[in-house]
Amino acid sequence: MPTLDFSYFYFLYVVVGLLLIIGLWVYYDRRDKQLYEAQRSLVIFHCVRCGKIYAAKGIHEEAPCPECRFTNGRLKF
Ligand SMILES: [Zn+2]
Repeated sequence: MPTLDFSYFYFLYVVVGLLLIIGLWVYYDRRDKQLYEAQRSLVIFHCVRCGKIYAAKGIHEEAPCPECRFTNGRLKF
């Protein structure tokens, strides 16, 4: 019967702890990216009818103006 000493279990304890921390890090990083990616990206629009500058969350090429409801294209720099 092979003998296992205490250092093997200590090494296993440390490796499992590190894998757990890295797994939680990757999980929360991916979850955060999925939840907040749409909120982080804002597209700026300038209304050609009333002159208001506004932003819409997410990736849009067109969005209606909150003042006059005229649909405007995104600003390009
Ligand atoms: Zn407008």
